[in-house]
Amino acid sequence: MYELKSQMYFSAAHHLLNYDGECENQHGHNWLVEAFVKGETLDKSNILVDYKVLKRELKSVLDLLDHKDINELPDFKGISPSSEILSKFIYTKLKERIPLVSKVSVWETAASCASYYEE
Ligand SMILES: [Zn+2]
Repeated sequence: MYELKSQMYFSAAHHLLNYDGECENQHGHNWLVEAFVKGETLDKSNILVDYKVLKRELKSVLDLLDHKDINELPDFKGISPSSEILSKFIYTKLKERIPLVSKVSVWETAASCASYYEE
């Protein structure tokens, strides 16, 4: 099995709903997103997915979030936009564009990461 990973940042504001603590107040992050693709079969150039395509599609998904107040976006109305929820959102959108996507990780800080994948 081959696995590729591409990393990209986006910046946005959010606040958590139904949460008792400082994260209920609006604040921002520079999120680091890692998108993984996995597969067994390489193409005629012996690549799994072109990094160029992976980065382009990841950017087009992250552009939906970048420099936005995530709580104000229609996709997140009434939903607490935790890093967990963001990882699922990015995974779902990216998977529509690149079927070999296997996991998305969202780093809120250098030490805290949430991932979404399906089994
Ligand atoms: Zn936060």
